[in-house]
Amino acid sequence: MHNTLIATWRMAQDGIIKAMDIDSLEDAVTHVVINVEDNPLFHSVGYGGLPNSKGEVELDAAFMDGDTLNYGAVAAVQHIKNPILVAKTLSRYQRNNVLTGHGAFEFAVQNGFEARDNRYPLSQLKWRNTLQDLPASEQLEAYDGHDTVCVLGCSPAGKVCAGVSTSGLFLKNSGRIGDSPVIGSGCFADSAIGAAAATGVGEDIMKGCLSWEAVRLMQEYSPQYACEKVVAEHTAKLMSRKGECGSISLIAINNKGEWGAATNKEEFSFVIGQPWKPVQVWLAHCRNNTVSVELASEEWLSNYLLRLNQGSGN
Ligand code: ASP
Repeated sequence: MHNTLIATWRMAQDGIIKAMDIDSLEDAVTHVVINVEDNPLFHSVGYGGLPNSKGEVELDAAFMDGDTLNYGAVAAVQHIKNPILVAKTLSRYQRNNVLTGHGAFEFAVQNGFEARDNRYPLSQLKWRNTLQDLPASEQLEAYDGHDTVCVLGCSPAGKVCAGVSTSGLFLKNSGRIGDSPVIGSGCFADSAIGAAAATGVGEDIMKGCLSWEAVRLMQEYSPQYACEKVVAEHTAKLMSRKGECGSISLIAINNKGEWGAATNKEEFSFVIGQPWKPVQVWLAHCRNNTVSVELASEEWLSNYLLRLNQGSGN
């Protein structure tokens, strides 16, 4: 009940509102993730997630406990209702903490997790239309995605943990694994310092192990400064080394419950739940290489609902 929670994207707001009444930090974090996994209107996670090039919905998810450093993940798994719950269970084992594809599905079924066909008519239509409209001369390319739900929490005792879940990049190759299930890239949590998580193009996030790097920097700096430094320096590095860098946004929380967020894009929304305060949606912007963070305006929030009803929100 007195946990502090931070999550990527406005889509996490409803889950955070409910999770503020949950005592257990781990359950609060997974509750937020499940809420997004189960809602097909959020078409980048769980049910209704973005299909790969074959039209299949392959999901990645991870969970990390900052006290024990226990880590579990599933990657490229199909037909599981809540991959985050499987990842959380895997985190408690001594071995075999990260499972992929069919092995992850088998483990989930054998351990009583609910199966579900995560294909949803609207996202299948989007996939079919994109294939149809593709000029014969062009190759199918994975889209520059930026929609993972990442949730970080800090308890009153200073415990932190992290949970992330995604369908990954739209039109990715079958079997492709992004940053989300890769420890230190998609998320990292250490109660001695804090936790961080990333959303954006996994291939670029993995090149800098960005969540680990943000946690490391929080030994010295505030979560806000750590996020800004990591995103700015990594973006500049990739630009100078290969002339391009995909979308990257980062959230972080330290073991005092202080939080931060940064992005290399024009706009990135995130949600904060703090004890005794209303749950609020915030925006991070990157303009002229400078990050600013502000509360979302009423106008932004109503436009968001409009976009969601038109089938394009996150
Ligand atoms: N990071 C995810 C991936 O590369 C995509 C996203 O954040 O939407 O799989």
